[in-house]
Amino acid sequence: MIQRRLFHRLLQPFSSGTTGGSRCVMFGLHSAMKDRHTSSPPSSSSSTTQSTLPVRATEHTLIAVKPDGVQRRLVGQIIHRFEQRGFKLVGLKMMQASEDLLSEHYREIVKKPFYPLVRAYMTAGPVIVMVWEGSNVVQSSRKMVGPTNGAEAQAGTIRGDFSFHVGRNVVHASDSTEGAQREIGLWFQENELLNWESCDQDWTIEANEDKQ
Ligand code: UDP
Ligand code: MG
Repeated sequence: MIQRRLFHRLLQPFSSGTTGGSRCVMFGLHSAMKDRHTSSPPSSSSSTTQSTLPVRATEHTLIAVKPDGVQRRLVGQIIHRFEQRGFKLVGLKMMQASEDLLSEHYREIVKKPFYPLVRAYMTAGPVIVMVWEGSNVVQSSRKMVGPTNGAEAQAGTIRGDFSFHVGRNVVHASDSTEGAQREIGLWFQENELLNWESCDQDWTIEANEDKQ
């Protein structure tokens, strides 16, 4: 049975302190993850769950490296593109997709004549699924990924650089914020996602962006 959850806590903006700062503070999405987290923050006072960084709106998207991307050893390069853009990784795992999960994920195309080919493709090997966070990350990711058919994708996009066939297009990216929430709920349990403050956040997001 596929569980559908919307991770409201993850999708809410960070709790905040009052001033901008460069201190690196990590905190879990919920207390269980926080307690289990073993990477120590650098500051002696950083065991607190309060951030010193300003409130920022957050947006999340589901990115998946499809079985061809895994087989072709493209995982690192694809992750690198999202890291390099400044987006923040908050969830990642490798898994073998079930047919049930796929039919939920692709519910908009499940009745299309080509769907059996998509199902065979997507279950042919493991996938890497990820949740990325950042301003406008859904729309930006779609641009980074490129159009569905790699043959039409521009060089510089993931599909344009690594694919030329619609049925082997290497990567998935959610196409809307609502779709992203739904897909994240399909692929991830709440305790598989981590809300953390990255040290470079002040350098990738202007502090008062919400006021502009
Ligand atoms: N797909 C396909 N043939 C088609 C259309 C889609 O094989 O004619 C596959 C392709 O892998 C695509 C996926 O089905 O990525 C989902 O289709 P969608 O239209 O949602 O494209 P996307 O959002 O991935 O660009
Ligand atoms: Mg789609």
